Amino acid sequence: MKTSPNFSGNYNILSERALQNALQNVPAYKGWQAFDPGSSASIDARFRAMPTISKQDLREHTWRNFIPAGMDIDTALKTGTIELVQTSGTTAEQVLNVWYQSWWDAAEAASWQYNVHTAALNLGKHREAILTSPMNTGILAKNGLLTMEERSCGRFLYLNEKINPSLWDDQLFERIIRELEIFQPVVLEANPSYLVKVARYAYRHHLRVFQPPVVIFSYENPGVLARKHIAKVFHAPLISSYGATEAGYVLMECEQGKLHQVSSSCRIDIEFMRPEYGHPHVGRLLLTTLTNPWRSLVRFDVGDLVQVDPAGICKCGRNDGYICKEFAGRTVNLTYATSGFPVTTAMIESIINNVEAVAEYQVLQREGIYNVNIVLDEEDNASRTLKEEITERLLPLYGRDAAINVHFVKEIETEPSGKYRLTRSDIPVNMEKLFGKGN
Ligand SMILES: [Zn+2]
Repeated sequence: MKTSPNFSGNYNILSERALQNALQNVPAYKGWQAFDPGSSASIDARFRAMPTISKQDLREHTWRNFIPAGMDIDTALKTGTIELVQTSGTTAEQVLNVWYQSWWDAAEAASWQYNVHTAALNLGKHREAILTSPMNTGILAKNGLLTMEERSCGRFLYLNEKINPSLWDDQLFERIIRELEIFQPVVLEANPSYLVKVARYAYRHHLRVFQPPVVIFSYENPGVLARKHIAKVFHAPLISSYGATEAGYVLMECEQGKLHQVSSSCRIDIEFMRPEYGHPHVGRLLLTTLTNPWRSLVRFDVGDLVQVDPAGICKCGRNDGYICKEFAGRTVNLTYATSGFPVTTAMIESIINNVEAVAEYQVLQREGIYNVNIVLDEEDNASRTLKEEITERLLPLYGRDAAINVHFVKEIETEPSGKYRLTRSDIPVNMEKLFGKGN
């Protein structure tokens, strides 16, 4: 077993520069020098010794404090080199970020090299259709609909202007399918929770859909169940791309289905769950920007969990950086077994995925009860036996004594951000209890 990835010499040089710059020139890290074991320690050990930063830290410090001293911020803002953008989410979740387009573009281009299909498409000037929440795109219509022209911007077409898919009617589904045919995108970039609805509509009505050369999933993960239903209708390679507004492109799925670190632009440190939980390769992602002169982020806890591939090799032959098997979900979306052990969204999804009739699901743990909402592929499948089957499958995960109630529902509600939160517990996240240092 091997959990230390291989890195190019350049990666360590960039990591060292990023840390040095943060400690010496960036106001937000004032005081962090005290944690630094110094240059006689390995670069990994130095990073490990540092605290982490959270979204709350980003808000409290404000964006200016993450820009290294000496950068001419006012001129850069005036000339448009950088701009300020608000991330999506509720007011409490939002962060004002410095946006530096050329850094983002370079990281995106680097990510395309991790998949043979995106690498072959010579991307960069391609037509791209985007299907996600307007909270991610800014293309929003509260009343009525926008024309295709109003939803077009350069080489991009935004397929949805409604706050979430529960507001889509048959006409809107058909418009999305029709516009894909008209626009003929080279890339369809989609939130899998949104695209699965289009796929299920097309499947139900036996509609043919335009087949783009690639479908790239972003905005939400893991989406194993969504992927199964999408693949019934979209036959192009389905590729997960994971990025964060704050940290750029982080992981990209290769043609063998594994997630590779985009190591030229982002450093990853992983803090694994404590070993007693029995998931030794699941950990939280801590991100460090390596190449963004306009924002210094060190060990930013982006809130996501991954499952590392302990072998550290992939059939695709790309063996630099972390290689992950899957996204495990978000830390805030963990639920807990009756024993108190954490259960990731991916663990639940791998079980639900094996129940053929289920199209969508949600698990809400509250006051010791596990309420499981299930949207069925076809409503006729609703039966007491199916409820029992789902309960029976979830019991080993939550404990034989777990109180599990399965409900068949018409749809799963989105969060105010337009994203789906498929699992949730009223037990607050305890980082100290979940993750141990020194691994
Ligand atoms: Zn690979």
